Amino acid sequence: MKLIDLYSDTQTAPTEGMRAAMATAKVGDEQMDEDPTTRELCIRVAELLGFEAAVFMPSGTMCNLVATLVHARPGDELIADAQSHICTTEGAGAAAIAGVAINPIPTRDGIFTADECRAAIREPSRTAPRSAMVSIEQTTNFSGGAVWPIDVLHGVRNAALDAGLRTHIDGARLFNASAATGVPLKAYTDGWDSAWVDFSKGMGCPFGAVLCGDTRFVRDAWTWKYRLGGAMRQSGIMAAAALYALDHHVTRIADDHANAALFVRLLASEPYFAFEAPSPITNLILFKVQGLPVNTVTFVERALQRGVRLRALSDGRLRATTHLDVTRDQIVAAAGMLNDLARELAAHVS
Ligand SMILES: *Cc1c(COP(=O)(O)O)cnc(C)c1O
Repeated sequence: MKLIDLYSDTQTAPTEGMRAAMATAKVGDEQMDEDPTTRELCIRVAELLGFEAAVFMPSGTMCNLVATLVHARPGDELIADAQSHICTTEGAGAAAIAGVAINPIPTRDGIFTADECRAAIREPSRTAPRSAMVSIEQTTNFSGGAVWPIDVLHGVRNAALDAGLRTHIDGARLFNASAATGVPLKAYTDGWDSAWVDFSKGMGCPFGAVLCGDTRFVRDAWTWKYRLGGAMRQSGIMAAAALYALDHHVTRIADDHANAALFVRLLASEPYFAFEAPSPITNLILFKVQGLPVNTVTFVERALQRGVRLRALSDGRLRATTHLDVTRDQIVAAAGMLNDLARELAAHVS
């Protein structure tokens, strides 16, 4: 039986069409700005997000790190949601490499308000760290794919800009936000200093992310990308995959969201699963198992034995992710299997 892999939207394999586009890509030396396909991708993404310029990066992690290196100095502070990717993963790159401390804002769903942002910004003083930048995630990852409403997003942006901070959007799943709400990408990123989108998540590419900003930001970002070893050569092979995804994988993201909502509906009809689903539902689903004689890790192991791969988060929650390589039929099959497993486990409680 074929594994139904709901672990992450990073599990997608390039499609035949994408591989063909990669195989025939025009290429050159990216470090010398001579790769035509990478140049085309950067122009296209900068236009989509409403920025002057863009740079192709190997990963979203490098986008966050490079933006931090450009926006802040060692000893400065970065404000972000306490569960955000930049805060809880990335090997504390902001601290380790940029010398930047994170001032985390605890939230329920990864979304904080302008007032919470203002409260986190420190008064300039001889002793306080300098508040240098604010970073937000659209959509939120470890908070279940919630979408920042545009007025809240821009409220936070204005609070930060008023206090002289730089503003950054981690758009690992910005395409998902836009697909869920119909709000254009550039409406979300409007007025922010930097933003990036990932091509290795819902867009289905093997790797790559594009970081955008004004010309000056991108020039400085290039310096750090090169220093960190992120300059590439014939990166057109990868940029071609991203261009292919822009042409073929954006409109279908709605299918992932419909599949996620279906998964929630099918499991929520049983008493064993508790959801705190945001509205709108995007492609990330966080939930808990309840009333079963097993913990989350054991439940995930049992599910895997039956052909469904989920992700156990460190705090006892489960995450399921829908993506390009999971069909509606597989979602129905996965939900049926998880319901059967839960019922069997519950039968052993006595
Ligand atoms: C995946 C992810 C990243 C990192 O992107 P990579 O391309 O995996 O390095 C950053 N932020 C969020 C919210 C993510 O989900």
